[in-house]
Amino acid sequence: MNHEQSRALYDRALSVMPGGVNSSVRAIRPYPFFVQKGDGGHVVDADGNRYLDFVMGYGPLLLGHDMPEQVQSAVQRRASEGPMYGAPTEVEVELAEFVARHVPSVEMVRFVNSGTEATVSAVRLARGYTGRDKIVVMQGGYHGAQESTLVEGEGDDTHPSSPGIPERFAEHTLTVPFNDEEAAHTVFAKHGDDIAAVLTEPILGNYGIVHPVEGYHETLRNLCDEHGSLLVFDEVITGFRVGGLQCAQGKFDIDPDLTTFGKIVGGGFPVGAIGGKSEIIEQFTPAGDVFQSGTFSGHPVTMAAGLETLRYAAENDVYDHVNGLGEQLRLGLQDILEDQAPEYTVVGTDSMFKVVFTRNAPDSFEGHCEAGCQQREDCPRYEHCPKNAGDIKRAETERWERLFWPEMKDQGVFLTANQFESQFVCDAHTGEDIEDALEAYKEAI
Ligand SMILES: *Cc1c(COP(=O)(O)O)cnc(C)c1O
Repeated sequence: MNHEQSRALYDRALSVMPGGVNSSVRAIRPYPFFVQKGDGGHVVDADGNRYLDFVMGYGPLLLGHDMPEQVQSAVQRRASEGPMYGAPTEVEVELAEFVARHVPSVEMVRFVNSGTEATVSAVRLARGYTGRDKIVVMQGGYHGAQESTLVEGEGDDTHPSSPGIPERFAEHTLTVPFNDEEAAHTVFAKHGDDIAAVLTEPILGNYGIVHPVEGYHETLRNLCDEHGSLLVFDEVITGFRVGGLQCAQGKFDIDPDLTTFGKIVGGGFPVGAIGGKSEIIEQFTPAGDVFQSGTFSGHPVTMAAGLETLRYAAENDVYDHVNGLGEQLRLGLQDILEDQAPEYTVVGTDSMFKVVFTRNAPDSFEGHCEAGCQQREDCPRYEHCPKNAGDIKRAETERWERLFWPEMKDQGVFLTANQFESQFVCDAHTGEDIEDALEAYKEAI
């Protein structure tokens, strides 16, 4: 595989952009390939190499790279009528109605421009609504590049995980390991009256893919209710992907107070949103006092892309297709691991998937969770499957990144560049693509 053009582009990029990229995760070693264009379920790089793409923009591309006719024409019409106005448009109302109609806990929506902005605003809203400062997040959980959640440490011994963030921010952020009910009880016993919200992804999607153990969400919901705290689901990844249009909260039958969205809801354009009960969402300005605003928020081109993408998904059995392919892929991966690396774990659900290079597990897959770890208690591998970010971190992350990822790339399969980020099947993928991917895994694992 020739990468001359990408190498030259990266050389130029390093002179004018820190690390040569605009988002850290893209700085694949020794240098990333530069994408020339997308093509359905594939991408083509600057040197003309074609890859089967499971990165899918790190989550936003439910349909793949080709916009269906109805999405494309809505986007082009919007753009040609002037990109944005600083006055409301009908399409914002339509997308808000669509979200409120399909997502069980959502009555009202505020659109913003990124997942980060959504979680920043949700945390501010929870603090403003409850009059409390502390938030609880999952260790290793990712909620975007925001001051309050970029923390490391355990319980109330937390510190900023990046320079540039005052210690004071971390003081208000408490961490617990995902899936650890005891830790959640402990943190509430100690700080319950000061906790504004628990902020968690329903499924950890940025640290392997970790499914909740049975009863975990319910425990968080109950603790929040008992202490007058809000439960905030960060569905930036899982929204309109896991559980289809009802999102992961519908699939798990949990009623969060607030939900953050991003990624898919903008149909591939920059987006975020905060949804929830009217009583809470109406605390945002100008209805209430919690300041929230944005020049580009509710951008008409983004709103049109999001609305038509979701309509297309609803009308064309997109979720059946992508979830079916996801299952085919995860089942195939389990077969491969059974032969070649029984200590590894297949994770994922719906159209999300990953192989975590765990170090210990029984040799046999007998009686295990089918098509990806679901944290089933009677699964013989239950004791060994990753339950939280710490477990994922202890896997063979170096092997994954330095040996496995490049090998897959050389075989023309584009995966997310490390052990942690989720991978996605899209509507443009076919059963044949999945078979090709499995052949590549067979070689590379
Ligand atoms: C991607 C992501 C974010 C941040 O969204 P951006 O659009 O990158 O700012 C927040 N939360 C979760 C769960 C995400 O996956």
